[in-house]
Amino acid sequence: MTKEEAARLAEETGFSHWGFFKAEGLRFLPEVRDMCSANRCNRYEKCWSCPPGCGTLEESKEKAAKYSWGILLQTTAELEDDYDGETMMEADELQKQRLEAFCTKIAGKEDMLPMGSGSCTICKTCTYPDAPCRFPERMITSMEAYGLVVSDVCQLADTPYYYGPLTITYSSCVLFK
Ligand code: SF4
Repeated sequence: MTKEEAARLAEETGFSHWGFFKAEGLRFLPEVRDMCSANRCNRYEKCWSCPPGCGTLEESKEKAAKYSWGILLQTTAELEDDYDGETMMEADELQKQRLEAFCTKIAGKEDMLPMGSGSCTICKTCTYPDAPCRFPERMITSMEAYGLVVSDVCQLADTPYYYGPLTITYSSCVLFK
């Protein structure tokens, strides 16, 4: 996969913005993992895609270490007002669908590591911790669960994190060799 091919695929898949970065610039921070364990999103210990089910910070770092570059992929939506939760949820879901579509198109052809936005929502109820994940090939762990600060990755990719008042942006990335 070249960067040109990845950009073409990002456009075809419908992402609003994208940018490239060197994987060596990623910082896997225990402080971000600490925010997961504070459980403000209520997903800690609830899903295979989230800590501690997704593995340790060290394991996350090792997984990412064999990749050399990444593409940051974003979905931006315009909000009617600051409380437009419906549009926020739609954009969140759209970002997940686009990331899955992006990965599905190259699955089996490319060695890649996708990192999503938020917890896995494929199943209504996650099997964690009683049974294995139902769809391990589709489940995507979030950038935050990898210990990444999303705004830092945006900066690394020279891509905005925020597109101004009354907008919401969800970011994910895919690493390649
Ligand atoms: S695919 Fe289903 S079982 Fe697997 S992490 Fe996602 S919600 Fe849980």
